Amino acid sequence: MIILVVNAGSSSLKYQLFDMSKELVLAKGLCDRIGINGSFVKHNTHDGRSVVKEIEMKTHKDAIASLMRVLIHEEWGVIKDLSEISAVGHRVVHGGEKFIKSVLIDDEVMKTLEECSELAPLHNPPNITGIKACQQVLEGTPQVAVFDTAFHQTMPKKAYMYALPYEYYEKYKIRKFGFHGTSHKYVSERAAVLLNKPLEELKIVTCHLGNGSSIAAVDGGKVIDTSMGFTPLDGLPMGTRCGTIDPALVTYLMHKEGLSSEEMDYIMNKKSGVLAVSGVSSDFRDLDDAVEQGNERAKLALELFAYHVRKTIGSYAFAMGGLDAVVFTAGIGENNGNIRKMACEGLEFFGISLDDEKNSVRGQEIDVSTEDAKVRVLVIPTNEELAIAKETLKLIS
Ligand code: ADP
Repeated sequence: MIILVVNAGSSSLKYQLFDMSKELVLAKGLCDRIGINGSFVKHNTHDGRSVVKEIEMKTHKDAIASLMRVLIHEEWGVIKDLSEISAVGHRVVHGGEKFIKSVLIDDEVMKTLEECSELAPLHNPPNITGIKACQQVLEGTPQVAVFDTAFHQTMPKKAYMYALPYEYYEKYKIRKFGFHGTSHKYVSERAAVLLNKPLEELKIVTCHLGNGSSIAAVDGGKVIDTSMGFTPLDGLPMGTRCGTIDPALVTYLMHKEGLSSEEMDYIMNKKSGVLAVSGVSSDFRDLDDAVEQGNERAKLALELFAYHVRKTIGSYAFAMGGLDAVVFTAGIGENNGNIRKMACEGLEFFGISLDDEKNSVRGQEIDVSTEDAKVRVLVIPTNEELAIAKETLKLIS
């Protein structure tokens, strides 16, 4: 069974083609600069062929059509005929309160997706454009939507409501939604496999730490709380996002600096986070280098980030009334042993204890805790595309 996974942005479209019988990535790549001069397709195959080709792509439909030609191309192709593609799985950022799991897309679903666009105006519209493009080019092929928000829909009301006038929830759906759900779901399920225990019996805190970072409390396979909120700006400080701050600072700074709401939004999303604290970079590799050269603010940025990770893990352990495992994933979680160490140090009283040697391993599934630790600390590389492909397969089977 061959499944195409599509992640459509405003001017780019990432894809992976899976042979699900072996969970093998036959090909992956992206169509970039869609609708802009100099658009190109970058394509890599499982057997080491790769190509970057300039192709005019004015619309997402052009991009999907170009991608299809590449997939069956004599030289770069990995399938003989497009009919071999059994289904397409789409990453959709926001499913609102309507979608609590992945869905097979029909007209009704498309209508609801359009309604959800208001909640994610930057992300959902290009996701929808990607779906429409696939519907046109691959007519009759089942399309599935997999949502970043869906896994978090099990949160109880006390966790997702804000203490704001209730009418805002009723009028505008102002509430916590949470993001990175596909990743949190994937790594929590993998954790159960690694720990050889049913997911239903486990209390897990999953830490997705990348450019965007979020943490989830997964109790018995269900999210009971997560750090991102109505938008992905909330929670941990991130590469360029401020995360949780005193909400009164927003109007205070707007007055002090004479900022418009758009300017304030831009500062909190693009000019804050570890970039702002360090004054160096949003990338943790650059911060590590700067710390080595004695940069104090870079050191502070790492400490501040790890401190927020640490106290979020702690609060979620309390929220769940116990903790069996902490999972680290995504760019930083998978590769940065120092952040894992800073987040977990001195917690032996709580059953958390890292094995320094194991913790120095990068980018592979590994239990990095000491033999006797009661709480297991796991590093599990996330694979959102494979998770989307699996969901898609499940829905069409
Ligand atoms: P995104 O949220 O954009 O998917 P990633 O999950 O790729 O982001 O995470 C980006 C962060 O992960 C960067 O701060 C980067 O420093 C860190 N990172 C990614 N790969 C590595 C690596 N191989 N070694 C160390 N750090 C890495």
